[in-house]
Amino acid sequence: MSEVVLREVTKKFGDTIALDSVSSYFPRGKITVVLGPSGSGKSTLLRIISGLENPDRGDIIIDGEEVEGLEPYQRGVAMVFQYPALFPHLSVYDNIAFGLEPLKLDKKEIDDRVKAAAETLEIKDLLDRYPSMLSGGEMQRVALARALVVRPRILLLDEPLSHLDVNLRTKLRRELVDLQRRLSITFIYVTHDQDEALEISDHLIILNQGKVIEEGEPLKIYLAPNSIESARFLSHNIIVINDELISFPPEAVILDGDDEYGVVESIYPARGYGSIAIRWTNNVIYAYVPLEQIQNLSQGATIRFSINYELVRKWGKRGVGGGELHRV
Ligand code: ADP
Repeated sequence: MSEVVLREVTKKFGDTIALDSVSSYFPRGKITVVLGPSGSGKSTLLRIISGLENPDRGDIIIDGEEVEGLEPYQRGVAMVFQYPALFPHLSVYDNIAFGLEPLKLDKKEIDDRVKAAAETLEIKDLLDRYPSMLSGGEMQRVALARALVVRPRILLLDEPLSHLDVNLRTKLRRELVDLQRRLSITFIYVTHDQDEALEISDHLIILNQGKVIEEGEPLKIYLAPNSIESARFLSHNIIVINDELISFPPEAVILDGDDEYGVVESIYPARGYGSIAIRWTNNVIYAYVPLEQIQNLSQGATIRFSINYELVRKWGKRGVGGGELHRV
């Protein structure tokens, strides 16, 4: 396992600045998730770490060594993409073995490695099949095996689960975490899905318009983001009260408190926790509610609650609007 450091990495495509002086740290043997909206530079970041793309400026340092000019396999890096891009005319076995091509290994070593990777990804029974005979999830397993077969020290994953259906996505992302824990490879995982990011990351980086706007421990960032852009991207409540822009996560709304009152505007049941929209002051805010409590709520009902002000971030005076706090 390896650690990766980027120092002031900039990459432009024509007038587009895909990465703008990015300095970041990807800890050894952990899962770092790079979270950002579409077009924020996530794929470019991975491609630059892998060596598929060169930065215009800046350094990529793997285990203390600047790696400019090195091929992906020389960097100890393998990559898994959103779409597995398997060769349709090759069997699963040969697709996996293809990852070993640059290493020029003997047949026995190739066979051992392909079988070991297939075992790890639980696809031993699929080795003779062709990609057209695989489901989306199976294809992604094959792509993962093809990446792992080179025994990378760093695995780069570019939204690998985003095109799978929800159930499979949840299952596979837990399997990926288990896999990482077992193999202790450094994972760098890119996604635009905040829930996925919070669920799997040991270290979180939020990218916006090519810039790192947040980096650190996921839960700390979630509870206390250091910019309004991060708060927005983490789906916090962002409202104006007394001309002041504030934000807080839905978890800051405490439904067994009674300092405030509002009106239930919408109810969204979901597995485990549902969420509700509450009209409060001149704003609509969102709160999480355990499912058994949701059953007792109805649209249009008045609801009492408190706000955990420790989780409220203030972003200064903004414009007009907002409302008075309706104290009970
Ligand atoms: P993300 O993965 O977060 O969606 P990307 O890294 O793919 O973002 O892209 C960042 C920005 O760089 C986008 O504006 C995108 O259009 C641009 N970009 C990426 N690759 C290229 C390329 N090969 N040529 C031109 N523009 C590119």
